[in-house]
Amino acid sequence: MRKKHTFKPESLMMSYGYKPALSEGAIKSPIFLTSTFVFKTAEEGKAFFEVAYGLREKYPHEEPGLIYSRINNPDLEILENRLSLWDKAGDCAVFDSGMAAIVTVFLEFLKPGDLLLHSVPLYGGTDHFIHHFLAKIGVHTLGFKPYQRRNEIEALLEQSGRADRLAMIFIETPANPTNALIDIECCKKIADRYSTEERPVRLAVDNTFMGPIWQKPLKHGADFSIYSATKYIGGHSDLIAGACCGSNEVITRVKFLRTLLGNMASPHTGWLLMRSLETLKVRMERQAKNARRLAEYLNEHPKVEKVYYLGLIKPGTMAHEIYERQYTSPGAMISFDIRGGEAEAFRFINALQLIKLAVSLGGTESLVEHPATMTHAGVDKVHREEVSITEKLIRISVGVEHYKDLIWDIKQAFEQVQGREIQESY
Ligand SMILES: *Cc1c(COP(=O)(O)O)cnc(C)c1O
Repeated sequence: MRKKHTFKPESLMMSYGYKPALSEGAIKSPIFLTSTFVFKTAEEGKAFFEVAYGLREKYPHEEPGLIYSRINNPDLEILENRLSLWDKAGDCAVFDSGMAAIVTVFLEFLKPGDLLLHSVPLYGGTDHFIHHFLAKIGVHTLGFKPYQRRNEIEALLEQSGRADRLAMIFIETPANPTNALIDIECCKKIADRYSTEERPVRLAVDNTFMGPIWQKPLKHGADFSIYSATKYIGGHSDLIAGACCGSNEVITRVKFLRTLLGNMASPHTGWLLMRSLETLKVRMERQAKNARRLAEYLNEHPKVEKVYYLGLIKPGTMAHEIYERQYTSPGAMISFDIRGGEAEAFRFINALQLIKLAVSLGGTESLVEHPATMTHAGVDKVHREEVSITEKLIRISVGVEHYKDLIWDIKQAFEQVQGREIQESY
């Protein structure tokens, strides 16, 4: 008798879902660069299509057959099985970008006349899509801010006059770039209150910043845990991809639309993501450790006005209560206000030597950017300032370097800011 044991996801990332015997015994999955798959018989081809097109339920133990790479491909299927483990999801669909994952979920679950309730701020691409494309096809949107309470959000819904058409709640937590938190369980209660038998209100969480390791949206009642896999999951700043985890029921629908749109990830990207998944947890743990050291350093620095970092949230606040319930680490994204404005922020950024100036996040190398003039330049100034995205705000995605080198870099960059100011005042 072989003993049974439930392995942790990090122990399964090297092997789960892959059968070496099907690939000449290769320890790693080959990259299946093929558009189509040969059926053994016409009967087999017929059976594969019946399942793929939902013409009948799968028989017990029947594996979905490989047909055509827009429908399925071994690299994507293995990757999806592995990604499902972290979120304890029924299934997962991978896409050729995070935006493709988000947009496909919107298009499948929203129709003209529906209302989409969302947190503010959202990732720039998502924000643009809902306010321009969804608006164009008659989907209404309504935003709420971090730390608004359930009764305030429900009052907003009632005032909109469209509460009975609420179809989806879409949130991003922690919010980019200020790390403000949204309460997933509170959103689930709102979704349940406005759901009816024929018209369930779906709850989707963009889990890019903390997932899949430190935040598990499905556990708190979300229907979707969505990722830009370009960020931590990919983790090496060398690919663009997305993923969406959820129950079998919702992911079957998402995959069907993906087949029609053809926005699945390529086999090569799927293979790279499998390689990334093997080190996901160790990378993220190292990044979080580094971030803690940097946040502590920044928090003590006289040139810093305020640090936005989950590890510095004050106990007794609403943010802290959400943090304790929803996260298992403060993560590796830090923002801070430098004393001064854009000039000081730019001098600091330009003086960095090891930390590179680039948007994106979650990779092995540390990156810095200036949200007000870069990632959030498209958000109007009033809205930006309402959510603390001012000219003195700097965002850092902390990588896996030695923390002493990162602190050295930050320290010398602050000295450059000071040095020039003194020169100028003479
Ligand atoms: C980057 C990002 C996206 C978009 O993902 P792409 O892979 O660039 O398409 C969506 N949401 C968040 C929070 C992101 O950081």
